[in-house]
This record gives sequence, structure tokens and C-alpha cells, in this order.
Amino acid sequence: MKAVAVFPGSREVKVIDQEDPRISQPDQVMLRMLDIGICGTDKEICTFEYGTPPPGDDYLVIGHEALAEVVAAGSAVKRFRAGDLVVPSVRRPCPHPGCLACRAGHQDYCYTGDFRERGIEQAHGYMAEHAVDQERYLNPVPPDLREIAVLTEPLTIAEKALSQITWMMQRRPPWLDPQTPAEERGRGLSALVLGIGPVGLLGAMVLASAGFTTYVYSRELPPSPRIDLVAAIGATYVSSQAATFADLAERIGNIDLVYEAVGHSHFALEALPVLGTNGIFVLTGVPGMQAFIEADPARLMRDMVLKNQVVLGTVNAGPDAFASALRNLDAFRRRWPAVVAALIAGRYPPERAPDLILGRPAGIKTVIAFDAP
Ligand SMILES: [Zn+2]
Ligand SMILES: [Zn+2]
Repeated sequence: MKAVAVFPGSREVKVIDQEDPRISQPDQVMLRMLDIGICGTDKEICTFEYGTPPPGDDYLVIGHEALAEVVAAGSAVKRFRAGDLVVPSVRRPCPHPGCLACRAGHQDYCYTGDFRERGIEQAHGYMAEHAVDQERYLNPVPPDLREIAVLTEPLTIAEKALSQITWMMQRRPPWLDPQTPAEERGRGLSALVLGIGPVGLLGAMVLASAGFTTYVYSRELPPSPRIDLVAAIGATYVSSQAATFADLAERIGNIDLVYEAVGHSHFALEALPVLGTNGIFVLTGVPGMQAFIEADPARLMRDMVLKNQVVLGTVNAGPDAFASALRNLDAFRRRWPAVVAALIAGRYPPERAPDLILGRPAGIKTVIAFDAP
């Protein structure tokens, strides 16, 4: 079968011909890969900044944002049969008996760092015609979501963040009601999303649909299709070329939530001072090496203490976040059909993958499909 692989030793990214995987344990499921999304992590892997082949291999099959169809199931598989659609999770637990997170099935909170990640860290990924996975790592997808379910994995970042924000917000100020329905959790609160890439846009959709008055702040200037999408979900776009963080704070008032989706440390640090009283600052981006800059830690510390602030980092996601991402995709599709249709920039055959990964991303989410023309 065909697969897209990166060879760190010879610094190559190419389509390879690989033996088909086989079911070897009764709880395994054979998958035919339908859609595989490309993201910034793939670019980092393909520029050799990140990513590790499985032990004994000199290459890594990439791809971690996937939608697949079940083609066969082992004898112990209960939840899936041929024809079902699934989205696999990415991270696999570490082997240490003392890691309470991994032992509880929450490898997104792994303590040891010895986890594997499919398509990223010591495990082949999903940019291949077929893949085999254990049942427990697969999330069922309703057939109606066939066209957009490849967005599930990138959406889980915002879903996990929102569930933690909600937990904290509802347990801190007693005037927020813990019984509030999901779509009204952000009612009366403001959210500022930093970045207009896929993670930022999907984050803005999650926040807007939870009732937050949502702003998106990035470098881009109009006209831009991505800025149009921000307006279409009822959020407000502000360009950093037209307004400073101080201007933003004046315009928005108390900023209850900052959702960082850029991965640029200087930008994030500049945004910290505008976080409002009782505010939560969520970091989702992973910065590469960046130059040292001067900061005013006394001011940051004073703000955090005197304004009851929280700075929260979040990575990867557990089964609950996958389930809520799939529910939200369905909600988004009904509420903003044109926006959801515009999220997937195009489907391309695997031979195009190296150029698409390394080139400048066009549109929101580029997808590799093995049957694309
Ligand atoms: Zn990704
Ligand atoms: Zn662990």
C-alpha cells in the first residue's frame, strides 16, 4: 500500500510502498483511511524539527488528523463493524505502571512523557491506505459527518480547553451557575482568540457557540476568506496591524478568556497584560526556539495575584473531547453550513502531500485522500 513517510536520516519526505498492516490481536480493527488532514505539526516533522520513527525503522509514516472506515474487526471487537466511520485518537499510553494518568486511559495527561503518538512520536501515522488500531483508541463517527469529520482531531484542542475553562469558571465565581446549558456557558463573558489558523478558527467556533462574545486577533488584514469566516460565526476580527493589545482591551472591556493559538511566545507574553479580572489565559501553541526578550515579571505576577488569574496550558485530548468535538461538528454544520463547507480547502492525492505540507497553507484545512483525483 501507499503511505507518506518522512526519513529524518536522509532528510526526505516521499510516498513509499509499504506492506499492508494486519490484524494480529483480537481487539484490533483494520481501517481504510478516507481523509487525513495536514497541520503545522506535520510541517515541523517534515522540516525535521520534530517527530521520531518507531524503534527499528528509519522512517515515520506521518498523519494524525484522520477519518477512516472500518474494513475488518478482530473477534473481541464489540463497538465496530465493517462500514462504520471512526476517528482515531493520536496518543498512546506510556508503559509505566506508576503513571496514574495513562493507567486511567487519560494519556493526554501522561506524567512520564514516555507516550507514543501516531504519526508524530515513535508510531506510524495515518497517511497510508490502511492502518490497524485497537478498538479503545477509536471514536465512532455518525455517517452524516463523513465530509467534515477529519476536523475532529484539531477541534479536540478547543474542546478539551473549554471543558477545563468551564470547570474552573463554574467553580470559582459563585455567580456563574454550574447548571448552565452548554450553549450558554459563555453568556455575558468575552473571549479573545489569538491567531486565525485552523486551531484559532475552530477555537473561535467553539467559544462563539458556547455564547462567549468572541474576538479574533491576528496579523492578517482584510480582504481575506478567513476573516470572512470569523464574521460569519458572529465573532469580531481585529488585525494586529490596525490595533494594539491596549486598544483591544479598551474596546472589549474585561477580557474573561484569552485563547492563544499561534505558538509565538512574544505575542503571548504581550497579550498577558490585557487578561481581565478573574480571567483565564489558555495556551495551545508550541513555540520553537525564539529570541530572548525583556519582560516585566513583577507586573505579570502582580496582575495574576490581584486579579485572580489563571494561565493554563493544554495539549492533546481524551475520549470526552473527541465525543464533544463530534457533537459540536454536527452543531456547527447545522448552524453555520457555509462556514463548515469552507473549512476544508481541498482533497489531494498523497503524491501532493510533500509540497502541500511544506508550502504555504491555502485555505483552512488541506486534506489528503487516497482516492482523490
Ligand atoms: Zn494536527
Ligand atoms: Zn503516562
